[in-house]
Amino acid sequence: MGALFQNYARRPIAIVEGKGTEVFDSTGKRYLDFTSGIAVCALGHAHPILVKAIQEQSEKLWHISNLFQSPGQEKLAETLVENLHLSHAFFCNSGAEANEAAIKLARKHTGKHKIIVFQQSFHGRTFGAMSATGQDKVRNGFGPLVSEFITLPFNDAAALKAAVDGETAAIMLELIQGEGGVNPVTDEFAAAINEIHQSTDVLLIVDEVQTGIGRTGTRFAFEQTVLKPDIVSMAKGLGGGFPIGGILGTAEMFDTFSAGTHGTTFGGNPLGVAVAQAVLGEVFKDEFLQSVQEKSVYFINRLKEALPHAKVNGKGLMLGVGWGEEVAPYVAALDEAGLLTVAAGPYVIRLLPPLTVSKEEIDEAVNILKSVITK
Ligand SMILES: *Cc1c(COP(=O)(O)O)cnc(C)c1O
Repeated sequence: MGALFQNYARRPIAIVEGKGTEVFDSTGKRYLDFTSGIAVCALGHAHPILVKAIQEQSEKLWHISNLFQSPGQEKLAETLVENLHLSHAFFCNSGAEANEAAIKLARKHTGKHKIIVFQQSFHGRTFGAMSATGQDKVRNGFGPLVSEFITLPFNDAAALKAAVDGETAAIMLELIQGEGGVNPVTDEFAAAINEIHQSTDVLLIVDEVQTGIGRTGTRFAFEQTVLKPDIVSMAKGLGGGFPIGGILGTAEMFDTFSAGTHGTTFGGNPLGVAVAQAVLGEVFKDEFLQSVQEKSVYFINRLKEALPHAKVNGKGLMLGVGWGEEVAPYVAALDEAGLLTVAAGPYVIRLLPPLTVSKEEIDEAVNILKSVITK
C-alpha cells in the first residue's frame, strides 16, 4: 500500500523523460505518446519554444496575484479572441474550474438556473462540473449534486426541443465528447441547437477543454460548426503541459463578472500565461492548423486501411477507433508494444498525439495498432 489515494488506475509504467512525440520510462524503454497527457502536450514534450518561455518567465516573476494589472493576461486574451465573435477572457487553472466559471457566468447573466447537458458528457470533477457530467460513474456516491442540470440524450434534437423552456439558462456541450467515447455532434443536432440559440435567450456553453487549441484542426472546434457559443471553456492544450484554463465570453456578458463576483488566486499566473502565449504563437498559425488538418486526413486514411473492421471517429488529431470489443486489454498490449493510448469509454481507443506529430510517427503508430489489434 503506497502513500497515495487509489483514485487512479495507474499503469505499471513510470515515464521520466520526453522529446516531441517520444517518451522514455525509468528503464529506458521508448514509447510513442499518442495520449499527449490527455490532449495536453499540444506541442509535444520539451518543445524548445516552451522550455525557453518558462525559463525566461521563471527568472522574472512567478506570481503576483490578480490584485494587480496583468499585461500578460490581456495579451493572451486578445490572442484567444482574435477574429472571433468572443471578446473577453477569464483565466483559471484547469478544465473543471473553467466549466465552474462558465456555469456561474451563465446563471448570473440569465438569472436562471436550469442548464441542459448530455449523456456521456464529461465536464470535470468539481461539484458544478460533476453535476453537469452525464456519466453515473463520475457522479455516484457524491450526492446531493448541484440541482437543475437536465441530462438529455446526445444528438437527439426532439428531446432537446421538448426540454428547453422559459427557465432554461443554457445548453452546455462538448462538440466531440472526449471521455465519453469520441462522439461528434451531428450537423443536424448542431442546427437544432443553433435554432434554439438564435430564437431564444438561452445561452450556449461549449466545453472546448479537450477539443480546443488546435486539437481538431481549427483554433476551436466550434469554428467548424454553425454554432456561435456565448461561453467557451478551455484548458488542456492551452498550457502545453503547464496548468492553465480559462473561459471566453461575448461582450454582452462583460458586466456580469463584475469586480468581486468570481476569482482565483493562481488563475492566469505569469508562468502559465507565458507558456500559453508561446503555445498559441505556434498553434494559432494558419500553416500549423493546416498541417494538423493534413495529418488528420493522412492518419484517418491509414487507420481505415490498417483496421478495416474498425470505426474511426473524431476530427483533427482527436480520433477514436472502436470495433465493438472492450479495449482495456488492447490499451495494455499497446503500452507493451511501445504505443501509449487512452480509452474513451469501454469500447473506444482514443488517439491524441501531439499536434507536432510527424507522418513517420503516425505510420509507426498505425503499424503497432495493426499488429496488436489484428493479432
Ligand atoms: C478533461 C476535461 C475536463 C476537465 O478538465 P480538468 O483539467 O481535468 O479539470 C472538462 N471537460 C472536458 C471536455 C475534458 O476533456
